[in-house]
Amino acid sequence: MATFSTLPSVSYTDIQDLTDQIRFQGTEGKIWFGEQRVMLMQVSSMAAFRREITNAMGIEQAKGFFLRLGYQSGLRDAELARKLRPNNSELDIFLAGPQLHSLKGMVKVIPLEIDIDQDNRHFYGELEWVDSFEVEICQTELGLLDEPACWSLLGYACAYASSFMKQEILFREISCRGCGDEKCIIVGKPADEWDDADSFRGYFKADPTVGELYDLQSELNSYNHCINNQEEQYYGIGQSLSYKKVCKMIDKAAQGKVTVLLLGETGVGKEVIARSVHVRSERSDKPFIAVNCAAIPHDLIEAELFGVEKGAFTGANQSRAGRFERANGGTIFLDEVIELTPRAQASLLRVLQENELERVGDNHTRKIDVRVIAATNESLAKAVEEGRFRADLYYRLNVFPASIPALRERIEDLPLLAEHFLEKFHREYNKRTLGLSDKALQACLHYKWPGNIRELENVIERGIILTDNNDIIDLESLFAIAPVQDNTKDNIINTEGNLVSSSNYSQQHWADQIFDNNLSLDEVENILIKSAIEKSNKSISGAARLLNMTRPTLAYRLKKANLLCQ
Ligand SMILES: [Zn+2]
Repeated sequence: MATFSTLPSVSYTDIQDLTDQIRFQGTEGKIWFGEQRVMLMQVSSMAAFRREITNAMGIEQAKGFFLRLGYQSGLRDAELARKLRPNNSELDIFLAGPQLHSLKGMVKVIPLEIDIDQDNRHFYGELEWVDSFEVEICQTELGLLDEPACWSLLGYACAYASSFMKQEILFREISCRGCGDEKCIIVGKPADEWDDADSFRGYFKADPTVGELYDLQSELNSYNHCINNQEEQYYGIGQSLSYKKVCKMIDKAAQGKVTVLLLGETGVGKEVIARSVHVRSERSDKPFIAVNCAAIPHDLIEAELFGVEKGAFTGANQSRAGRFERANGGTIFLDEVIELTPRAQASLLRVLQENELERVGDNHTRKIDVRVIAATNESLAKAVEEGRFRADLYYRLNVFPASIPALRERIEDLPLLAEHFLEKFHREYNKRTLGLSDKALQACLHYKWPGNIRELENVIERGIILTDNNDIIDLESLFAIAPVQDNTKDNIINTEGNLVSSSNYSQQHWADQIFDNNLSLDEVENILIKSAIEKSNKSISGAARLLNMTRPTLAYRLKKANLLCQ
């Protein structure tokens, strides 16, 4: 057996930045690690799970399974390390991985030799694993193996180092206590420096039969998507009762020619629904014209919708058809129909009642066959009451009203919608992120979404633009200003390893720093005052507001401390 030097040549930086990532929301049933939701799980359950998987799949398949399990976790931690230690040395950033592994209670990692040169794509790592949980499982539950047993730890190391180096790094466990060796030692090098890299890589690909099944499944899903969501639209995406009910109703209306009135807040997807009604109707091969009535100036709206004859008014230099004529045989979607002028309302009523229209400045009547789908986010009934909207037109439009629920009323549909937009923008930007972090999704589920689905779409597009390939979309990339979250009830781990309330902790943390730096109360006051003045652009009134004191009081203290503007 080979012997190894036990003197670690590499030392760790402080682990506090990593420990600070753990937050316990005991009453909420959640534990967070950075933006990832984690959970505490007994090693003994893991042991039982591993035994079952090994029995069901055989040792080779099970090994691949656990390597991939670790791999996923390593990918995410590499990202976290880069984020938490942006200004540290290459080595200190890299060592966050082994430190995270230890912090999570999986194994104590002693780096024996780490040689990193990202510019020259050079990597060599030799590390010792002490008290691996996977060895413990072998010793207590499964018995010793014939080969190294620290599978998920190894998967983690491969993913972490590869993601860190942005090239394929493979680690191998060259000796393992799980198979009777004295120590667990791993060695990592770029893949092309291993002779058997190809066969080892095989473990990181999922079981081919399982893979095929997944492929088939996703093919089927995308096929269904195509049927249900023509032109990448999100009509029909959702499982909430309220939304399913509306969809069922709209499906029924789609086939005939009945006028549909879509109600709901802005951004709930009224145009998407209107389009899907058209696509499902017998008119689907004829035009679909969408008009936002609020976007057209009042004095032009009649001509825009119903057409105009040459010379009808100044600027009408030639005759042209309006949107209704262009939609002939098909469907017209009138969004914000409440914005129509009285004359346009009268013309619309005529279309609905007589199937005919006259262009502005024309006395020739034209037959027209257009299905009308109207939408509004204001109450038409109220507009009728106030005399802003014709009652007879309202009754004509209100034959088949459908109320589209706001996103916050069907928030359980958000993950599906988010998934839909992720796919859409991955395609559009030719990118592949790892999707939303658990924390980001959590924030989405608690946000009120005043702009509804359209806002969600914009937020996800922003997230994808700001996130690199193979990274997770975090809260910060998703929202320019993160929705307010109450963290004061969280518990975190202090330096002694005890669980404490985060609000007390940050106060204590702050106080400890002051004591550690031997600062007097006067010095603390001066630092506070100076930084308030900096923050408020040297304005004394501004600084006084920040410090919650009056301007004269601050001026007095400035004078006393001899801090007056230098
Ligand atoms: Zn081992």
